[in-house]
Amino acid sequence: MLRPPTITDALRARRLLGDHLPPTPMWSYPALNATAGTTVLVKHENAQPTGAFKVRGGITLLAGLDLAERARGVVGYSTGNHAQSLAFAAARFGAPCVIVMPVNPNPAKANAVRALGAELIEAGADLTEAAEHAETVAAERGMRLVSAANEPALIAGVATAYLEIFDKEPALDAVIVPVGGGSGAAAACLAAAAVAPGCQIIATQSAASPAAHDSWESGGAPLSRPNRTRVEGLATGRSFELTQQLMRLHLADFLLVDDDAIAAAQWTMMRDAHTLAEGAGAVALAALLAHRERFAGKRVAVMCSGGNASEREILTCGGLAA
Ligand SMILES: *Cc1c(COP(=O)(O)O)cnc(C)c1O
Repeated sequence: MLRPPTITDALRARRLLGDHLPPTPMWSYPALNATAGTTVLVKHENAQPTGAFKVRGGITLLAGLDLAERARGVVGYSTGNHAQSLAFAAARFGAPCVIVMPVNPNPAKANAVRALGAELIEAGADLTEAAEHAETVAAERGMRLVSAANEPALIAGVATAYLEIFDKEPALDAVIVPVGGGSGAAAACLAAAAVAPGCQIIATQSAASPAAHDSWESGGAPLSRPNRTRVEGLATGRSFELTQQLMRLHLADFLLVDDDAIAAAQWTMMRDAHTLAEGAGAVALAALLAHRERFAGKRVAVMCSGGNASEREILTCGGLAA
C-alpha cells in the first residue's frame, strides 16, 4: 500500500514549484456568471506551459528523486497530458524520459512529447498494452515507471493548484474538479480538508467512463467500467485505490455528465470566458450548467484543467452548444 500524501507534502511541493511555475490565474467572467446564474471562478490550468495541471505533479515527482534515480530516468505511458508533464519535468531536471503511446498516436501529442526532448516509443493497440510495454522498458533500463494516478508525489504537486484557489478565495462554497484516475480530486480533497473545510469538493466525470464515480459511490471498492468517453483526459476504465482513499476523506458529491454536454461547455467556455479548454478542462463547467439550481447564488470555482484540445474538438464543439 502506498502512503497517501499529507498536507505537509503539498506545502513542500508548493515551495519547490515556486522555482519552476508561477501560480495560474483564476478569473470570473460576467458573461459566464450570467449563463450559469451564479458566481463562477475559472481556475486556469490551461495556462500552464504544458497546457494542463499535471505538470505540477511531474515536477514534484522529479524533484523528489535522488541523483542516481534521476540519472536513470523515468518512463510513462499516456496518450496526453501525463506524457507532456513527465517530459517537461524530466527535461528540467536533466533526466532521460521515455513515453510509451499506443501505435498511431495523435500526431500533435506525439510531436509535443518529442519536442520536449523525450524518447517516444509506439507500442500496443491500447493504453493497457502500452502500459505493459512501459513496464518492460522500465525493467530493462532500470528506469522509474510513473503511473498517472497511483503516485503520492503527483497528488502532492497537484494539490498546490487547490492551495492557490483557497488562498485567493477563502470563502468558496464549492470547487468542481474533473476526474479520470482521480489525482486532481484526491489533491483537492487533501487541500480543502486542511485549509477550507467548509468548501465542498465536487468531482465530475464522463457518464461514458464512470469507474471512479462508481467506485466512490460503492465506498471505494476497486472496480473496472466501460471506457467509452471521447474526452481524452477522462478516459479511464478503472479506479485507483490511492486516489479513492483521499476522495473518501472529503468529497461531497460526484456528478456524471454526458460527452455532448461536455462539448457544449467547451463552446460556452470559448464564448463567455474566451478560453480554449479541452473536453476534460470543460467538464467541471458542464457539471455546473447541468445542476444550475443547486449552485444558484453560490461562489463556485471550476477547474479548467487543460487546454490541449485537438483541432477536431475545436471544430465540432460549437455544433453541440445549446
Ligand atoms: C488527466 C486530466 C484530467 C483527469 O485528472 P485525473 O487526475 O486523472 O483524475 C482532467 N483534465 C485534464 C486536462 C487532464 O489532463
